Amino acid sequence: MLLLAALSQYHGSFALALGGLRAHGTLPFLVRSIPPFNLQVGLYYGGWVALQACLNHLLPGKIATGLPTPGGQSLPYKVNGLACCITNLAIFITLAAAGVFRPSSITAHVGEFLFAASNYGFILSLAVTIKCYCMEPGVKDVRFTGSIVHEFLSGIELNPRLGKYWDVKLFQIGRVGMISWLLLDLSFAALQLERFGSITNPMIVVNALHALYILDFFIYEDWYLTTIDIAHDHFGFYLAWGSAVLVPALYTTQAHYLAYHPVEITCTHASILTLAGIISYIIFRTSNNQKFRFRQTNGKCVIWGAAPKTIPAAYRTVDGSLHRSMLLCSGWWGLVRHPNYIGDLLFSFCSCAACGFTHLLPWSYLIFMTVLLAHRSWRDDRRCSEKYGAQWMKYCEVVRWRLVPFVF
Ligand code: NDP
Repeated sequence: MLLLAALSQYHGSFALALGGLRAHGTLPFLVRSIPPFNLQVGLYYGGWVALQACLNHLLPGKIATGLPTPGGQSLPYKVNGLACCITNLAIFITLAAAGVFRPSSITAHVGEFLFAASNYGFILSLAVTIKCYCMEPGVKDVRFTGSIVHEFLSGIELNPRLGKYWDVKLFQIGRVGMISWLLLDLSFAALQLERFGSITNPMIVVNALHALYILDFFIYEDWYLTTIDIAHDHFGFYLAWGSAVLVPALYTTQAHYLAYHPVEITCTHASILTLAGIISYIIFRTSNNQKFRFRQTNGKCVIWGAAPKTIPAAYRTVDGSLHRSMLLCSGWWGLVRHPNYIGDLLFSFCSCAACGFTHLLPWSYLIFMTVLLAHRSWRDDRRCSEKYGAQWMKYCEVVRWRLVPFVF
């Protein structure tokens, strides 16, 4: 709400918004900033989520298998995200071209949409928590911690499902979170065109880089099944509400800011930023691909022209059975323990830099990603050291740096 207030009432300045917060008092400020309830917008949002559900169910897609869960399950997933995303884009463009709706109309009501998304995120988080309390005992991959607050926030069930293929977590992150990010970015570009008569270079850079990242997510959706979000994090408020609200609110800050406060950069600067963004993306994608290929082929692959260096590792699942695994120490993974996070952070930097250095607000995406991924690197190191014990310690000795060589 602070973000929305800063953008709509305080000229895109966090500092001014914080001044307003101090002047009015936190609670009155927040109450004043709550977007009004708008039934029509709520119905549009509900209809859009229902459309995502229909597309997810109806559009064809290959069936991919997720990583074995700690409970020993290998779950099937219908991977049709790219088809769903392209269909959304086609509907958006067709309706806009036919004059049925103004593409900027989503952003004209962005607060109300986020309010509706927030209600949906809360209801979904509550629903999955209640579902777990109503389950028969003996269901695999559920985690009751004894703290209802922790369970609500971090989730109880690893992979809540509707039917055989419909994974609620993948649906929420991919279909609701990522597609709303793409559509909102486009809508902010349309708003800028309406307000100022042209789309500026920074808006093009931001939209192009974000579209690349979002399309990558869907093109490599079977890879995404192996990430921490799907393979390890349980589904609760963080992922349900975060995907519904935080992603469309925070990840679109740059386009949102530019729609109201256009910044001009030369074509040369825009090209340099785009090129730097593409190089960062290549680091992100190739490092993720190296690990994915390494695991898929049991180490029988070539990385940077040679057979990969590996550390054999083993772990036990909850039923006590022993499983063999391997840790990669070559390519990007021989330089730091989380090279894919570095690619992601550099990429975020490039899209934020397109908005200039006048205000902190458009940089909130990079700040959020830095906190998220630095914390994640620590969380993952702790989880892997519990899972692999001495073998993970050995990996940490071989690959000493967590994120930045010789620094961290
Ligand atoms: P990773 O894909 O890096 O997954 C970490 C897991 O990989 C570990 O838990 C371990 O799992 C395995 N692993 C770690 N090191 C090695 C190694 N050396 N060799 C083999 N396996 C290893 O992390 P994330 O899921 O967090 O991130 C995936 C991508 O998604 C990243 O590029 C990240 O930047 C991006 N991301 C983007 C977000 C956004 O909001 N835009 C949010 C979160 C992530 P195992 O138990 O299988 O051994």
